[in-house]
Amino acid sequence: MNPIYAALPTTIFETMSGLARETGAINLGQGFPEEDGPLALREVAARALLEGSNQYPPMRGLPALREAVAAHYGRCHGVSLDWAREVTITSGATEALAAALLALLSPGDEAIVFAPMYDCYAPMARRAGANVRVVRLAPPNWRIDRDALHRALTEKTRVIVVNTPHNPAAALMSEDDIAHLAALCAARDITIVSDEVWEHVTFDGQTHKSLLAHPDLRDRCVKIGSAGKMFSMTGWKVGFVCAAPHLTEAVVKAHQFLTFTTAPNLQIAAAAGLEYPAEYFAQMRTAFQRGRDRLAQGLADVGIHTLPAHGTYFLNIDLRASGIDVSDRDFALRAVKDAGVAVIPLSAFYQDDAETGYARLCFAKSDDTLDRGVERLAKARALFA
Ligand code: PMP
Ligand code: GLN
Repeated sequence: MNPIYAALPTTIFETMSGLARETGAINLGQGFPEEDGPLALREVAARALLEGSNQYPPMRGLPALREAVAAHYGRCHGVSLDWAREVTITSGATEALAAALLALLSPGDEAIVFAPMYDCYAPMARRAGANVRVVRLAPPNWRIDRDALHRALTEKTRVIVVNTPHNPAAALMSEDDIAHLAALCAARDITIVSDEVWEHVTFDGQTHKSLLAHPDLRDRCVKIGSAGKMFSMTGWKVGFVCAAPHLTEAVVKAHQFLTFTTAPNLQIAAAAGLEYPAEYFAQMRTAFQRGRDRLAQGLADVGIHTLPAHGTYFLNIDLRASGIDVSDRDFALRAVKDAGVAVIPLSAFYQDDAETGYARLCFAKSDDTLDRGVERLAKARALFA
Protein backbone atom coordinates (compact mmCIF):
# COMPACT_ATOMS: atom_id res chain seq x y z
CA MET A 1 0.00 0.00 0.00
CA ASN A 2 1.16 3.53 -0.57
CA PRO A 3 2.79 4.59 2.74
CA ILE A 4 0.67 7.74 3.02
CA TYR A 5 -2.50 5.64 3.14
CA ALA A 6 -0.87 2.87 5.16
CA ALA A 7 -0.22 5.40 7.93
CA LEU A 8 -3.79 6.70 7.94
CA PRO A 9 -6.60 5.43 10.17
CA THR A 10 -10.19 5.16 8.91
CA THR A 11 -11.71 8.67 9.03
CA ILE A 12 -13.01 9.76 12.40
CA PHE A 13 -16.46 10.40 10.84
CA GLU A 14 -16.81 6.80 9.69
CA THR A 15 -15.39 5.51 12.98
CA MET A 16 -17.75 7.52 15.19
CA SER A 17 -20.82 6.86 13.00
CA GLY A 18 -19.91 3.14 13.08
CA LEU A 19 -19.73 3.19 16.89
CA ALA A 20 -23.02 5.10 17.05
CA ARG A 21 -24.69 2.46 14.85
CA GLU A 22 -23.24 -0.38 16.93
CA THR A 23 -24.19 1.08 20.30
CA GLY A 24 -27.44 2.79 19.28
CA ALA A 25 -26.00 6.12 20.43
CA ILE A 26 -27.41 9.48 19.32
CA ASN A 27 -25.10 10.62 16.56
CA LEU A 28 -23.99 14.22 16.97
CA GLY A 29 -20.64 13.31 15.39
CA GLN A 30 -20.53 13.15 11.59
CA GLY A 31 -22.06 16.26 10.05
CA PHE A 32 -25.32 15.54 8.27
CA PRO A 33 -28.85 16.87 8.71
CA GLU A 34 -31.36 14.54 10.29
CA GLU A 35 -33.98 15.62 7.78
CA ASP A 36 -33.39 15.45 4.01
CA GLY A 37 -33.56 18.67 1.98
CA PRO A 38 -36.42 19.80 -0.35
CA LEU A 39 -38.79 17.05 -1.55
CA ALA A 40 -39.27 19.04 -4.77
CA LEU A 41 -35.56 18.59 -5.59
CA ARG A 42 -35.69 14.88 -4.84
CA GLU A 43 -38.65 14.68 -7.23
CA VAL A 44 -36.65 16.44 -9.95
CA ALA A 45 -33.83 13.91 -9.38
CA ALA A 46 -36.28 10.96 -9.42
CA ARG A 47 -37.96 12.12 -12.62
CA ALA A 48 -34.62 12.71 -14.32
CA LEU A 49 -33.55 9.19 -13.34
CA LEU A 50 -36.71 7.63 -14.79
CA GLU A 51 -37.28 9.83 -17.81
CA GLY A 52 -33.91 11.38 -18.63
CA SER A 53 -30.62 10.00 -19.87
CA ASN A 54 -28.58 7.77 -17.58
CA GLN A 55 -25.50 7.74 -19.79
CA TYR A 56 -22.25 9.67 -19.31
CA PRO A 57 -22.89 13.40 -19.08
CA PRO A 58 -20.16 15.71 -20.50
CA MET A 59 -16.92 15.43 -18.55
CA ARG A 60 -17.02 19.02 -17.27
CA GLY A 61 -20.65 18.63 -16.21
CA LEU A 62 -24.06 19.27 -17.79
CA PRO A 63 -24.17 22.73 -19.40
CA ALA A 64 -27.49 23.44 -17.62
CA LEU A 65 -25.81 22.91 -14.23
CA ARG A 66 -22.66 24.85 -15.12
CA GLU A 67 -24.82 27.76 -16.28
CA ALA A 68 -26.85 27.57 -13.07
CA VAL A 69 -23.65 27.57 -10.97
CA ALA A 70 -22.33 30.67 -12.78
CA ALA A 71 -25.66 32.48 -12.43
CA HIS A 72 -25.97 31.51 -8.74
CA TYR A 73 -22.53 32.82 -7.77
CA GLY A 74 -23.11 35.94 -9.86
CA ARG A 75 -26.21 36.63 -7.74
CA CYS A 76 -24.87 35.50 -4.36
CA HIS A 77 -21.19 36.45 -4.35
CA GLY A 78 -20.96 39.06 -7.09
CA VAL A 79 -18.53 36.89 -9.07
CA SER A 80 -19.02 36.94 -12.83
CA LEU A 81 -18.15 33.50 -14.25
CA ASP A 82 -17.93 32.18 -17.80
CA TRP A 83 -19.81 28.90 -17.31
CA ALA A 84 -18.16 27.21 -20.31
CA ARG A 85 -14.56 27.99 -19.33
CA GLU A 86 -14.66 28.52 -15.58
CA VAL A 87 -17.08 25.97 -14.06
CA THR A 88 -16.56 22.23 -13.58
CA ILE A 89 -18.86 19.70 -11.89
CA THR A 90 -17.23 17.03 -9.70
CA SER A 91 -18.41 14.13 -7.57
CA GLY A 92 -18.66 16.18 -4.40
CA ALA A 93 -16.31 18.75 -2.95
CA THR A 94 -14.06 15.86 -1.94
CA GLU A 95 -13.31 15.02 -5.55
CA ALA A 96 -12.91 18.73 -6.31
CA LEU A 97 -10.28 19.02 -3.58
CA ALA A 98 -8.45 15.95 -4.87
CA ALA A 99 -8.53 17.20 -8.47
CA ALA A 100 -7.33 20.68 -7.49
CA LEU A 101 -4.47 19.41 -5.31
CA LEU A 102 -3.38 16.73 -7.79
CA ALA A 103 -3.47 19.28 -10.62
CA LEU A 104 -1.68 22.13 -8.87
CA LEU A 105 0.98 20.34 -6.81
CA SER A 106 4.09 18.48 -7.97
CA PRO A 107 6.60 16.43 -5.99
CA GLY A 108 8.78 18.72 -3.86
CA ASP A 109 6.27 21.60 -3.82
CA GLU A 110 4.93 22.86 -0.54
CA ALA A 111 1.30 23.37 0.46
CA ILE A 112 0.15 25.35 3.49
CA VAL A 113 -2.91 24.23 5.44
CA PHE A 114 -4.47 25.70 8.59
CA ALA A 115 -5.21 23.49 11.60
CA PRO A 116 -7.75 22.49 12.68
CA MET A 117 -8.69 21.39 9.15
CA TYR A 118 -11.11 19.16 7.31
CA ASP A 119 -9.39 15.82 7.40
CA CYS A 120 -8.69 15.16 3.70
CA TYR A 121 -6.56 18.23 2.86
CA ALA A 122 -3.17 17.13 4.16
CA PRO A 123 -3.25 13.48 2.98
CA MET A 124 -4.41 14.58 -0.47
CA ALA A 125 -1.67 17.20 -0.78
CA ARG A 126 0.93 14.67 0.37
CA ARG A 127 -0.34 12.09 -2.08
CA ALA A 128 0.14 14.72 -4.79
CA GLY A 129 3.80 14.73 -3.75
CA ALA A 130 3.85 17.96 -1.78
CA ASN A 131 5.27 18.63 1.64
CA VAL A 132 2.61 20.04 3.93
CA ARG A 133 3.22 22.91 6.33
CA VAL A 134 0.63 23.43 9.03
CA VAL A 135 -0.27 26.83 10.50
CA ARG A 136 -2.38 26.65 13.64
CA LEU A 137 -5.49 28.74 14.22
CA ALA A 138 -6.30 29.49 17.87
CA PRO A 139 -9.72 29.55 19.57
CA PRO A 140 -11.96 31.32 20.22
CA ASN A 141 -11.58 33.53 17.10
CA TRP A 142 -9.54 31.19 14.93
CA ARG A 143 -7.98 34.16 13.07
CA ILE A 144 -4.92 33.65 10.89
CA ASP A 145 -1.68 34.24 12.83
CA ARG A 146 0.19 36.26 10.21
CA ASP A 147 3.62 35.72 11.74
CA ALA A 148 3.07 31.97 11.77
CA LEU A 149 1.83 32.09 8.18
CA HIS A 150 4.90 34.02 7.06
CA ARG A 151 7.18 31.59 8.86
CA ALA A 152 5.54 28.73 6.94
CA LEU A 153 6.08 30.33 3.53
CA THR A 154 9.05 29.29 1.42
CA GLU A 155 10.16 29.60 -2.19
CA LYS A 156 8.48 26.25 -2.76
CA THR A 157 5.00 27.23 -1.52
CA ARG A 158 2.62 26.63 -4.43
CA VAL A 159 -0.78 26.29 -2.77
CA ILE A 160 -2.56 27.52 0.36
CA VAL A 161 -5.73 25.62 1.29
CA VAL A 162 -8.37 27.67 3.09
CA ASN A 163 -11.84 26.86 4.37
CA THR A 164 -14.55 29.42 5.12
CA PRO A 165 -17.01 29.02 6.80
CA HIS A 166 -14.68 26.73 8.69
CA ASN A 167 -15.26 23.10 9.64
CA PRO A 168 -14.74 22.39 12.55
CA ALA A 169 -14.10 25.89 13.97
CA ALA A 170 -17.48 27.27 12.79
CA ALA A 171 -15.75 30.60 12.07
CA LEU A 172 -15.96 32.87 9.02
CA MET A 173 -12.76 34.29 7.54
CA SER A 174 -12.59 38.07 8.03
CA GLU A 175 -12.30 40.42 5.06
CA ASP A 176 -9.05 41.57 6.55
CA ASP A 177 -7.59 38.05 6.49
CA ILE A 178 -8.83 37.56 2.92
CA ALA A 179 -7.13 40.81 1.84
CA HIS A 180 -3.94 39.73 3.57
CA LEU A 181 -3.94 36.34 1.82
CA ALA A 182 -4.72 38.03 -1.51
CA ALA A 183 -1.75 40.38 -1.27
CA LEU A 184 0.55 37.58 -0.19
CA CYS A 185 -0.53 35.19 -2.96
CA ALA A 186 -0.23 37.88 -5.62
CA ALA A 187 3.27 38.81 -4.43
CA ARG A 188 4.47 35.21 -4.31
CA ASP A 189 2.51 33.66 -7.15
CA ILE A 190 0.63 31.22 -4.93
CA THR A 191 -2.73 29.61 -5.76
CA ILE A 192 -5.49 29.37 -3.16
CA VAL A 193 -7.70 26.31 -2.98
CA SER A 194 -10.77 27.73 -1.23
CA ASP A 195 -13.15 25.21 0.29
CA GLU A 196 -16.42 27.15 0.58
CA VAL A 197 -18.86 24.24 0.91
CA TRP A 198 -20.54 25.90 3.92
CA GLU A 199 -21.08 29.19 2.04
CA HIS A 200 -24.85 29.23 2.64
CA VAL A 201 -24.76 28.01 6.23
CA THR A 202 -23.97 31.23 8.12
CA PHE A 203 -25.70 32.72 11.15
CA ASP A 204 -26.68 35.92 12.94
CA GLY A 205 -26.99 37.85 9.70
CA GLN A 206 -23.34 37.30 8.76
CA THR A 207 -22.69 36.56 5.12
CA HIS A 208 -20.04 34.47 3.46
CA LYS A 209 -17.30 36.26 1.53
CA SER A 210 -15.95 34.20 -1.35
CA LEU A 211 -12.21 34.46 -1.89
CA LEU A 212 -12.89 34.36 -5.62
CA ALA A 213 -14.68 37.72 -5.28
CA HIS A 214 -11.43 39.42 -4.22
CA PRO A 215 -9.97 41.11 -7.34
CA ASP A 216 -6.41 39.92 -6.56
CA LEU A 217 -7.62 36.33 -6.17
CA ARG A 218 -9.93 36.16 -9.19
CA ASP A 219 -7.18 34.51 -11.27
CA ARG A 220 -5.42 32.60 -8.52
CA CYS A 221 -8.21 30.91 -6.58
CA VAL A 222 -9.95 27.57 -7.10
CA LYS A 223 -13.31 27.94 -5.34
CA ILE A 224 -15.09 24.75 -4.29
CA GLY A 225 -18.80 24.37 -3.46
CA SER A 226 -21.09 21.40 -2.72
CA ALA A 227 -24.74 20.74 -3.55
CA GLY A 228 -24.86 18.38 -0.58
CA LYS A 229 -24.43 21.28 1.83
CA MET A 230 -26.58 23.74 -0.10
CA PHE A 231 -29.59 21.44 -0.22
CA SER A 232 -29.12 19.44 3.00
CA MET A 233 -28.49 16.17 1.18
CA THR A 234 -24.91 15.25 2.01
CA GLY A 235 -25.11 11.94 0.16
CA TRP A 236 -25.57 13.65 -3.18
CA LYS A 237 -21.90 14.30 -3.83
CA VAL A 238 -22.18 16.97 -6.50
CA GLY A 239 -19.34 19.50 -6.29
CA PHE A 240 -18.77 22.82 -8.09
CA VAL A 241 -15.31 24.07 -9.03
CA CYS A 242 -15.02 27.69 -10.15
CA ALA A 243 -11.70 29.08 -11.33
CA ALA A 244 -10.09 31.16 -14.06
CA PRO A 245 -9.74 29.26 -17.37
CA HIS A 246 -6.05 28.31 -16.93
CA LEU A 247 -6.77 26.85 -13.47
CA THR A 248 -9.96 25.16 -14.68
CA GLU A 249 -7.98 23.48 -17.48
CA ALA A 250 -5.57 22.06 -14.90
CA VAL A 251 -8.31 20.83 -12.53
CA VAL A 252 -10.22 19.23 -15.41
CA LYS A 253 -7.16 17.20 -16.43
CA ALA A 254 -7.14 15.59 -12.99
CA HIS A 255 -10.94 15.28 -12.80
CA GLN A 256 -11.10 13.32 -16.08
CA PHE A 257 -9.11 10.50 -14.48
CA LEU A 258 -10.66 10.61 -11.04
CA THR A 259 -14.37 10.21 -11.74
CA PHE A 260 -14.67 11.71 -15.24
CA THR A 261 -18.27 12.70 -14.51
CA THR A 262 -21.13 12.67 -12.00
CA ALA A 263 -24.67 11.18 -11.92
CA PRO A 264 -26.78 13.15 -14.45
CA ASN A 265 -30.03 13.11 -12.48
CA LEU A 266 -28.36 14.69 -9.46
CA GLN A 267 -26.78 17.32 -11.72
CA ILE A 268 -30.22 18.22 -13.09
CA ALA A 269 -31.68 18.46 -9.58
CA ALA A 270 -28.75 20.56 -8.34
CA ALA A 271 -29.32 22.96 -11.25
CA ALA A 272 -32.97 23.35 -10.20
CA GLY A 273 -31.92 24.02 -6.60
CA LEU A 274 -29.38 26.67 -7.55
CA GLU A 275 -32.24 28.64 -9.06
CA TYR A 276 -34.13 28.74 -5.76
CA PRO A 277 -34.81 32.26 -4.51
CA ALA A 278 -32.79 33.81 -1.69
CA GLU A 279 -35.64 32.97 0.74
CA TYR A 280 -34.91 29.25 0.48
CA PHE A 281 -31.36 29.79 1.69
CA ALA A 282 -32.52 32.26 4.34
CA GLN A 283 -35.02 29.73 5.71
CA MET A 284 -32.37 27.03 5.78
CA ARG A 285 -30.07 29.31 7.77
CA THR A 286 -32.87 30.18 10.21
CA ALA A 287 -33.67 26.51 10.81
CA PHE A 288 -30.03 25.54 11.48
CA GLN A 289 -29.52 28.61 13.66
CA ARG A 290 -32.48 27.50 15.80
CA GLY A 291 -30.78 24.12 16.19
CA ARG A 292 -27.53 25.79 17.17
CA ASP A 293 -29.27 27.94 19.77
CA ARG A 294 -31.29 25.06 21.19
CA LEU A 295 -28.21 22.90 21.62
CA ALA A 296 -26.04 25.72 23.02
CA GLN A 297 -28.75 26.72 25.53
CA GLY A 298 -29.46 23.13 26.53
CA LEU A 299 -25.78 22.51 27.14
CA ALA A 300 -25.33 25.78 29.05
CA ASP A 301 -28.22 24.70 31.31
CA VAL A 302 -26.31 21.55 32.31
CA GLY A 303 -22.99 23.35 32.80
CA ILE A 304 -21.39 22.55 29.45
CA HIS A 305 -19.61 25.46 27.79
CA THR A 306 -19.46 25.92 24.03
CA LEU A 307 -17.52 28.20 21.69
CA PRO A 308 -19.29 30.66 19.39
CA ALA A 309 -20.51 29.13 16.09
CA HIS A 310 -20.98 31.53 13.19
CA GLY A 311 -21.56 28.97 10.43
CA THR A 312 -21.59 25.23 9.43
CA TYR A 313 -23.57 22.56 11.32
CA PHE A 314 -21.10 22.51 14.20
CA LEU A 315 -20.70 23.68 17.79
CA ASN A 316 -17.60 22.93 19.89
CA ILE A 317 -17.64 22.00 23.55
CA ASP A 318 -14.85 23.45 25.67
CA LEU A 319 -14.10 20.41 27.82
CA ARG A 320 -11.94 22.13 30.47
CA ALA A 321 -14.36 25.04 30.92
CA SER A 322 -17.08 22.41 31.36
CA GLY A 323 -15.16 20.69 34.16
CA ILE A 324 -14.24 17.68 32.00
CA ASP A 325 -10.61 16.86 32.56
CA VAL A 326 -9.83 14.09 30.07
CA SER A 327 -8.45 14.11 26.54
CA ASP A 328 -10.87 14.91 23.73
CA ARG A 329 -10.44 11.36 22.36
CA ASP A 330 -11.11 9.71 25.73
CA PHE A 331 -14.16 11.90 26.17
CA ALA A 332 -15.47 10.97 22.71
CA LEU A 333 -14.94 7.24 23.30
CA ARG A 334 -16.55 7.20 26.74
CA ALA A 335 -19.40 9.45 25.54
CA VAL A 336 -20.36 7.05 22.76
CA LYS A 337 -19.81 3.84 24.74
CA ASP A 338 -21.05 4.81 28.21
CA ALA A 339 -23.36 7.80 27.69
CA GLY A 340 -24.93 6.99 24.31
CA VAL A 341 -23.88 10.07 22.35
CA ALA A 342 -21.36 10.33 19.52
CA VAL A 343 -19.16 13.45 19.15
CA ILE A 344 -15.97 14.19 17.21
CA PRO A 345 -12.74 14.94 19.15
CA LEU A 346 -11.17 18.07 17.68
CA SER A 347 -7.71 16.48 17.67
CA ALA A 348 -8.88 14.53 14.59
CA PHE A 349 -8.64 17.81 12.68
CA TYR A 350 -4.94 18.30 13.46
CA GLN A 351 -2.08 16.52 11.74
CA ASP A 352 -0.20 15.74 14.95
CA ASP A 353 -3.30 14.41 16.75
CA ALA A 354 -2.30 16.51 19.78
CA GLU A 355 -4.87 16.99 22.53
CA THR A 356 -7.13 20.02 22.03
CA GLY A 357 -9.64 20.05 24.88
CA TYR A 358 -12.56 20.44 22.45
CA ALA A 359 -15.24 18.15 21.03
CA ARG A 360 -17.37 18.93 17.97
CA LEU A 361 -21.16 18.44 17.92
CA CYS A 362 -23.53 18.57 14.94
CA PHE A 363 -26.73 20.52 15.64
CA ALA A 364 -28.49 19.89 12.29
CA LYS A 365 -30.96 17.64 14.11
CA SER A 366 -34.57 17.59 15.30
CA ASP A 367 -35.44 19.26 18.60
CA ASP A 368 -36.03 15.85 20.14
CA THR A 369 -32.63 14.52 19.07
CA LEU A 370 -30.92 17.67 20.36
CA ASP A 371 -32.72 17.44 23.70
CA ARG A 372 -31.82 13.79 24.13
CA GLY A 373 -28.29 14.63 23.05
CA VAL A 374 -28.06 17.23 25.82
CA GLU A 375 -29.25 14.69 28.42
CA ARG A 376 -26.62 12.23 27.30
CA LEU A 377 -23.87 14.83 27.18
CA ALA A 378 -24.77 15.78 30.74
CA LYS A 379 -24.37 12.07 31.59
CA ALA A 380 -21.03 11.99 29.76
CA ARG A 381 -19.84 15.02 31.73
CA ALA A 382 -20.86 13.30 34.96
CA LEU A 383 -18.60 10.33 34.06
CA PHE A 384 -15.64 12.60 34.65
CA ALA A 385 -16.93 14.82 37.47
N1 PMP B 1 -15.06 20.28 2.82
C1 PMP B 1 -15.60 20.51 4.04
C2 PMP B 1 -15.07 21.62 4.86
C3 PMP B 1 -16.62 19.68 4.50
O1 PMP B 1 -17.13 19.91 5.71
C4 PMP B 1 -17.08 18.63 3.68
C5 PMP B 1 -18.16 17.67 4.13
N2 PMP B 1 -18.79 17.96 5.23
C6 PMP B 1 -16.51 18.45 2.44
C7 PMP B 1 -15.50 19.28 2.04
C8 PMP B 1 -16.96 17.33 1.53
O2 PMP B 1 -18.04 17.71 0.75
P1 PMP B 1 -18.73 16.65 -0.25
O3 PMP B 1 -19.62 15.80 0.58
O4 PMP B 1 -19.46 17.50 -1.24
O5 PMP B 1 -17.63 15.86 -0.87
N1 GLN C 1 -18.11 16.73 6.41
C1 GLN C 1 -18.66 15.84 7.38
C2 GLN C 1 -18.25 16.29 8.76
O1 GLN C 1 -17.43 17.15 8.91
C3 GLN C 1 -18.23 14.42 7.18
C4 GLN C 1 -17.95 13.98 5.82
C5 GLN C 1 -17.40 12.60 5.82
O2 GLN C 1 -17.82 11.76 6.59
N2 GLN C 1 -16.45 12.37 4.99
O3 GLN C 1 -18.75 15.73 9.68
